[in-house]
Amino acid sequence: MGTSNKQYQPTLVIKSCSDCPNIRKEPQYTSDSWERANNWYCTETELENDGKKIAGYVEWMDIKDIKVPEWCPLRIKRKKEKV
Ligand code: SF4
Repeated sequence: MGTSNKQYQPTLVIKSCSDCPNIRKEPQYTSDSWERANNWYCTETELENDGKKIAGYVEWMDIKDIKVPEWCPLRIKRKKEKV
């Protein structure tokens, strides 16, 4: 049995920013204490110091509708690697 020095990099498929390790969720407080919503920021960007805003006031039922933005740094990096 031969061994190979070839290194494999695992691939993480991200269909939603909520699955990405670069997301920062900040609670969005309202006058209704029962509401649970978050603002989403991307920590992979440097804008606004804490990351560029992905979406605001995200409730659990909204998560499935929020797509990975076109400006996603990982998406742009991958496009550059393919060229
Ligand atoms: S924009 Fe891209 S890097 Fe940022 S949290 Fe979403 S998937 Fe992750």
